[in-house]
Amino acid sequence: MAIRNLRFDGDEVLRKKSKIVEVFDEKLAQLIDDMKDTMYKNNGVGMAAPQIGILKRIVVIDIGEGPIELVNPEIIEKSKRQVGKEGCLSCPDILGVVKRPYKVTAVGYDRNKNKIEITAQGLLARAICHELDHLDGILFKDHAKEIISREDIQAKIKSKTQE
Ligand code: ZN
Repeated sequence: MAIRNLRFDGDEVLRKKSKIVEVFDEKLAQLIDDMKDTMYKNNGVGMAAPQIGILKRIVVIDIGEGPIELVNPEIIEKSKRQVGKEGCLSCPDILGVVKRPYKVTAVGYDRNKNKIEITAQGLLARAICHELDHLDGILFKDHAKEIISREDIQAKIKSKTQE
């Protein structure tokens, strides 16, 4: 088990395009395990390799239904729309209101190069879109309709409990 250092907004690695994974070996498996450990340690529901400084097309996601790993993922179908709040381990101080597809189908590979196809909706669809954006250097705040600082949210919660 290894926790890797997170990269934060402002770090140029988060703005680069990640490369396709060509070699499926023990090193890849280790990297995926480290990504999962780092995600869980930081209470995230997803993580993309650039968020730990590695420009490879790998994401891990767990919205509480068990871990999903996707190597070289692609979204092949999307439908409907959802608008909701979103956060990111690389932008810990803000939340954004982001429009996403409600339903997506993604394809990719696991660490053993088995092909995976996932059709997801709601939060899982949102997480898949968010993590795949990272592989192209896109952050959720780039297409957020509204940005909310976590300080504001904390302040609101405080004032409510004081009332
Ligand atoms: Zn993120």
